[in-house]
Amino acid sequence: MNKYTKEAFVNLLEDKLTRKRRIHMEDASDKDLYYVIASIVKDELTPKWLDTQEKYKSNETRQVYYLSMEFLIGRLLESNLLNCGLLDVCNEALREIGRDPEEIYKNEHDAGLGNGGLGRLAACFLDSIASLNLPGHGSGIRYRYGLFEQRIIHGNQIELPDYWLKEEYPWETRKTDEAIEVHFGGSVHMHKKSDGTLEFSYHNTDKVMAVPYDVPVVGYQNNVVNTLRLWSAELPQDESDFLSEPSSQYYHHLDHTHSVEQISGFLYPDDSSFEGKELRLKQQYFLVSATIKGIINKFKDEHNLPLTSLQEKVVIQINDTHPSLAVPELMRILMDEEGLNWKQAWNVTTKVIAYTNHTTLSEALEKWPVSMIQNLLPRIFMIINEINERFCQGIWFDHPELRDSIPELAIIADDQVHMAHLAIVGSFSVNGVARLHTEILKTKEMKNFYTLYPRRFNNKTNGITHRRWLLQVNPCLSKAITEAIGPQWVKQPNKLISLLRYSNDRPFLEKIDQVKRENKQVLANLIHKQTGVTVDEESIFDVQIKRLHEYKRQLLNIFHVIYLYNELKENPSLDLTPRTFIFAAKAAPSYHLAKEVIKLIHHVASIVNFDKTVNGKLKVIFLENYNVSLAEKIIPAADISEQISTASKEASGTGNMKMMMNGALTVGTLDGANIEIKDLVGDDNIFIFGLKADEVLNYYKNGGYVAKDIYNTDERVRKILDQLNYGEFGAHEIEFKDIFYNILYHNDPYFVLKDFDPYIESHELIERAYRHKKSWQKMSVTNIAYSGKFSSDRTIKEYASEIWKI
Ligand SMILES: *Cc1c(COP(=O)(O)O)cnc(C)c1O
Repeated sequence: MNKYTKEAFVNLLEDKLTRKRRIHMEDASDKDLYYVIASIVKDELTPKWLDTQEKYKSNETRQVYYLSMEFLIGRLLESNLLNCGLLDVCNEALREIGRDPEEIYKNEHDAGLGNGGLGRLAACFLDSIASLNLPGHGSGIRYRYGLFEQRIIHGNQIELPDYWLKEEYPWETRKTDEAIEVHFGGSVHMHKKSDGTLEFSYHNTDKVMAVPYDVPVVGYQNNVVNTLRLWSAELPQDESDFLSEPSSQYYHHLDHTHSVEQISGFLYPDDSSFEGKELRLKQQYFLVSATIKGIINKFKDEHNLPLTSLQEKVVIQINDTHPSLAVPELMRILMDEEGLNWKQAWNVTTKVIAYTNHTTLSEALEKWPVSMIQNLLPRIFMIINEINERFCQGIWFDHPELRDSIPELAIIADDQVHMAHLAIVGSFSVNGVARLHTEILKTKEMKNFYTLYPRRFNNKTNGITHRRWLLQVNPCLSKAITEAIGPQWVKQPNKLISLLRYSNDRPFLEKIDQVKRENKQVLANLIHKQTGVTVDEESIFDVQIKRLHEYKRQLLNIFHVIYLYNELKENPSLDLTPRTFIFAAKAAPSYHLAKEVIKLIHHVASIVNFDKTVNGKLKVIFLENYNVSLAEKIIPAADISEQISTASKEASGTGNMKMMMNGALTVGTLDGANIEIKDLVGDDNIFIFGLKADEVLNYYKNGGYVAKDIYNTDERVRKILDQLNYGEFGAHEIEFKDIFYNILYHNDPYFVLKDFDPYIESHELIERAYRHKKSWQKMSVTNIAYSGKFSSDRTIKEYASEIWKI
C-alpha cells in the first residue's frame, strides 16, 4: 500500500504545483495545494475507475442502482485519500513542508446535496457498496444550490444560498455524450394497431436534456471505484433553433426555456415534510426518467437479451418515495418504447424496483394532486391510473375481506396520488430502516398492505460508514483501537467487539480517556473561535446535533438546561458536574416553531453563558450551519449523545450510531435504532427514559394525556413555561408565546412535559455516573465495542444478500 514515501509525495506535490498551477511550493496557497492533491488522487483512481466499469460490463452479475433525491456527501478529498491508502503519506508530506493538512482539506466546499439523515445514509451506502466490492451506482441530481447555509443573527436563523459550484469541483466529470432527453407536458395520442393493440405517441412535449456528471466512489483499499451519477438539467440544442422560428407555441416555449435549468436549480430544504410544489415533482420525474432511460440504454448496449429479462441484470432501490415515479416510468418505457405488453412490463417492473420507507410521519407522506401529474406527465398519469384500477380490482376479487379498505389502500383517492402506495404496489421489496420502524409499518401504518404482501416487507437497520465516522474523523481513537486489538476491525467492523476484553484494562482506558480529552480540546478551540465563548474542557460535552424538528425534541433538552439554571440560581453552591450543552441544527425555512426553538436556545445561551453565578457549571453553545464537516468535528468530542425523539417518531436515526462509535453514551428514548443500541450494550451502558412507542401511539389513539395537568402539578415545569410566556428570563424580556401555546393549548403533541421528569432523572444519573471516571470509561469502551453492528457495511451486506441478490 505504501506507493509513495513521504519524500516522493513531496516531490509529486512540487511537480504538480509547477505543472498544473504554475506556482512554486513556497508561494502555493492552501487552495493550490487542495487542487493539486485532488489531482493526485484522481490520477490514482482513474485507471481503477475505468477497470471497475470495464469489469462490470463484461461480468454477468446484476447491478444495483440507488436512486435518491439526496446525497449528502460532504467533502471527498480526505476520504478519497483514506480509501486510496494515501492519507497518511499525504499528511506526513504536508507537515514536512510546514503545512497543516486540515487547513488544506477545508478548502473543499461541502457537497450539501441533502437535508439530513436520508441523504447522509445514501452517501454512507455508496461508500460501503464500493468498499464491499459490489456493483452499485448512485443516481441523483446535481443541484446548483445545495442545502442553504445557516447564519444566526440575534438568535434568528438566516438562510443564505449555498452556491457550492462557484469554484471548480474537482471530482466531477461531465459526460455530454451520455445526455438523455426527458419530456414533460404535451399530449398523448392513442392508435389501434392492425393487431388490435394500442400504441401511444406524444406530441408537443417540452424537452429537457439531462446531462450526467460522474463522481467517483472509491472503495476502501480494494481497487474498486464506483460511480455516483448526478444529472444536470439543460436546454436541448435544437430548442434554440426552434426559438428562431416563432410560432403559436412561441411564448410557451420561451417560458419553458426559461424554466429548464431550474429543474436542477436547488435542493428543497424540507426534511421529513412534504411540499407539493410543481418544481419538486419535475425534479423527481427528471431524476427518474434520466436514470431509467440510461439503465435501459446500457442494458441494450451490453446484453443481447430481451427486455423481459431486465430483472436479471438490474435492481433499482428507491430511497423513500421521492423517486417512486420509477414505477410508471419503467412501465412507460417498456411498453411505449420497447413494445412489451402490460403483463410483461408489470412483471419486469415489480421484479426490478425495491422501496425503502423512511418515516411514518403523516406530514412527510407524498401525495400529489391528480391535476398536477396529469398536466405535467399525461402518459405517466394514465399508467398510474391503470395500475390503480388493476390493483383495486385485484383486492375486490382476490381479497374480499379487504373490500371495505379499498379507499384507504388505493393509489389514487381524493384527487391525490399516494406515492407510498404506488411504491409498495409496484415493487418487490418494502423495507423499514430499524426494527421498531419496520414493526410499526407491518402492524400499524401499512397493516393492510402487509396482509396483501406479507413477503414483501423486511427490515434493514441503518448504518454509517465507520471509515469516515471513525477512521477519518477520529484518527487517535482509531490508532488506540488498532494498538489494542489489531487492524482487522477496519475491514471487519464487527471485530470491534474484541475491545470488550479491554474494558477493565487501565492503560487502555486511560488512553481512550486521553484521546477524548484531546478531541474535546480541539472542539473547545473551535467553539471559542466561532462563538467567543470559553468552555470548560473538563465538563461533560452533552451533544444534540440533527435537523431541528418538534419530534426530535430539542425543546426537551433546552427545558433541562433552563431547569438546571433555575436550580443553580436558587442554590449557587449546588454540587453539579460542569456541563457544556452543544447544539447544532438547521430548521426548514418555513418551519416557524422550529425557528422559535433555535431562538430560545440562543436566548438561554445568552443568559446562562454570561451569568457569573452559574457559568462555571453551565454553558450553552449553538454552532451554526450544521453540515457533514461540522458533524465530523463535534462527534469525536461528544460525551453524551442526545437521542430523545418522541418514541415511534424517529424511524432509525444515524447520528446516534456515529456518536456511539466515538465513545459517547446515549441518553435516549426507546425509539428507532436506539432500541437496538440498548439491546447490544445493555441497560447499564445507556440512559433510557420516557414513554415507549406503544404508549405514545395509545395516547394518540385513545387520548388520556393532559399537558395542563403537568403544568399545574409540577412546579419545575410551570416555572419554565411561565418564564417563556412572560419573558421573565434574567434581565431580558423576550417572549416565547408560540412555544408556550403549542404545549399548553395544543396539548403538547410531542409529549415534552410528559417525558420531562424521567428525562431530568436520567440526567441526574448521568451526572453521578460521570464522577466515576473508570466506570464511565468502561461504559464508553463497551459502546465502541458494540458499534460494529452499525457499520453500513453490515447494512449493505443485508441489502445485497436479501434484496438485491448480488
Ligand atoms: C448523520 C447526520 C444527520 C442525521 O442525524 P440524526 O441524528 O440521525 O437525525 C443529519 N445531518 C448530518 C450532517 C449528518 O451527518
